Amino acid sequence: MSDHLIYIVDRDATLEEAPELAARVMQWLEEQGIAAPSADAEVAFSPATHCAGANAKDWVEWLDQFNRCGIIAEIGRQVFHAGGNGVEGLECPQCQTVHDADDVDWGEAVGGWYEEQDDRLACPACEKSSSITDWRFSEMEWGFGNLGFAFDGFGVEQKLADAVSEVLGHRVVIVYRAI
Ligand SMILES: [Zn+2]
Repeated sequence: MSDHLIYIVDRDATLEEAPELAARVMQWLEEQGIAAPSADAEVAFSPATHCAGANAKDWVEWLDQFNRCGIIAEIGRQVFHAGGNGVEGLECPQCQTVHDADDVDWGEAVGGWYEEQDDRLACPACEKSSSITDWRFSEMEWGFGNLGFAFDGFGVEQKLADAVSEVLGHRVVIVYRAI
């Protein structure tokens, strides 16, 4: 049983194009043998649409051997956060200063993004404001978007993320969520 969900998050998809893109990626995953349709696969103990395909092990660092692997596309405006991994630091996209998470009011900017309001966060070092979606969360990255692919039981690495990015024609980020 895995204690991490791994997301590949599309950083650029609009809500309108997300369903078509989700279908395109799931079809590609099936064609590569990375995923196979399944009636009893699970992601974080909820029903998923797909389980691991015959070639999945060639694409990931590791694969859960206890047959609990699941994949599902999640459509909808979502903050793909790192869960129990927490947030230690935030890096300003303008000056690359890394601030302690306690020293900047990033929670308000995240809420603003979610509500489609002002999502900018001002940097205490360079005093420039940037969208929270451009700040880099550490140690574990966060993703902001309308489309994410959840993998449970898969050791997703950059190779798979890059391939999915190519299918999407969009930038992606890998988010590790401790559950
Ligand atoms: Zn700055």
